[in-house]
Amino acid sequence: MLSSDLFELVQKYNVPGPRYTSYPTAVQLSDQYEQGELDRAFGKRRDKEQAFSLYIHIPFCFSLCWYCGCTKIITKDQDRGDHYLDYLEKEMSLVRETIHPGSTLKQIHFGGGTPTFLSPPQLRRLGALLQSYFKIHPDVEFSVEIDPRRCSEDHIKALAEIGCTRASLGVQDTNEEVQKAIRRVQPFEKTAQVTNLLRKHSILNINFDLIYGLPKQTLPLFHKTIEDVVSLEPDRFAIYSYAHIPSIMPAQKLLDENDFPSTEAKLGMLVYAINKLPDYGYNYIGMDHFAKETDELSLAIKEGTLQRNFQGYSTHAELDMLALGMSGISQGTEFYYQNEKDLGKYYALLDKGELPVFKFLSLSDDDKLRKQIIMQIMCRGEIDYVQFSDQHEISFPKQFSSELESLKQLEADGLLILFEHGFKITSAGRLFLRNIAMVFDAYLQQKNHQTAYSKTV
Ligand code: SF4
Repeated sequence: MLSSDLFELVQKYNVPGPRYTSYPTAVQLSDQYEQGELDRAFGKRRDKEQAFSLYIHIPFCFSLCWYCGCTKIITKDQDRGDHYLDYLEKEMSLVRETIHPGSTLKQIHFGGGTPTFLSPPQLRRLGALLQSYFKIHPDVEFSVEIDPRRCSEDHIKALAEIGCTRASLGVQDTNEEVQKAIRRVQPFEKTAQVTNLLRKHSILNINFDLIYGLPKQTLPLFHKTIEDVVSLEPDRFAIYSYAHIPSIMPAQKLLDENDFPSTEAKLGMLVYAINKLPDYGYNYIGMDHFAKETDELSLAIKEGTLQRNFQGYSTHAELDMLALGMSGISQGTEFYYQNEKDLGKYYALLDKGELPVFKFLSLSDDDKLRKQIIMQIMCRGEIDYVQFSDQHEISFPKQFSSELESLKQLEADGLLILFEHGFKITSAGRLFLRNIAMVFDAYLQQKNHQTAYSKTV
């Protein structure tokens, strides 16, 4: 059970807010941009030899999970994978022209949708395309999202052959009643089998995704899920708060709202994970991530190099990200852009020989500063005004005086401690990182924010 103080805080701070996998958030990207802005941005990118992170979105899934918030297309037609790869190749050839010929890929991630919707030969073809269009760094970190329900040993062999070293398995919850309620029935034996096969084929870094706050979930059932999953000893867990935004994700309307756990029970699940997982050797990295002591995320948090990007916490988030495929969001130091979210339009632009860009945002100096502040809150839980001011040639207390005033209320609620030269987030405050970061978000007063985000708890 939660203490009454914590429950009061939850009631007060459970408001819609971003997850801050980026700042500004994806909501701020606009389709009202000039082609010249985009051309200039690509021109600058082409001039600079650098290492990139590459994300490839595979949008197809065989069936619909009702809680899903991803951009996906439900189909059983495997040939659509070949057609999509034809277009990814066109996109690769165009993107290659917007980066320096000496630039390398230091991180590759296949996400979705369901990357293992692609058959083993299609996965091999995708690996070959990457090799022919990009320079791949010898120490590349190569990860893939896996749906254990759709992953054979041949898929895993193909992934290992093309260089994949990390896998992230969608688990969500191990209880059958919960799985039926969200229309994603995945026997635990299947998760265990895929985990073992990944290890057999030397894909050794394994993450499990869980979700708390799903229909039919209760605290005792969640405890059992934790017990089940730790028995397979993954290196990391991402334990996400279920984001209920049916106005944006219509499939969520299918869920029975009477089945949702209360806010108190939902937060109790996160608190349980934070308290219990260290007993099994997992450190709490922040917000929704846990990692074994030996995992790179644990090392990054110790060395102060932890970062956050569109995929959550990462050790390589300092790299500019190139995103390929329908709806992918590319994220750089100076600008972000998103590909067409409609598959037909994505294909049509590529048929015309154009990059399938749909929305764009050029980061202002203020965006860049606030991005640094928000990332420090999310990744380090503290800000030193002197250090920050020196690094960015500003006076933090002067430039953010109204924000520091607003932090006093959060301090009164025990979420952080304000010092003369900085502030530090308390252990209670770690449950409300999004709310603390929101104080520094310049866009939250705009009318679209209430409907665009899920609640922070
Ligand atoms: S949760 Fe994953 S597998 Fe299920 S519909 Fe969404 S993207 Fe597809």
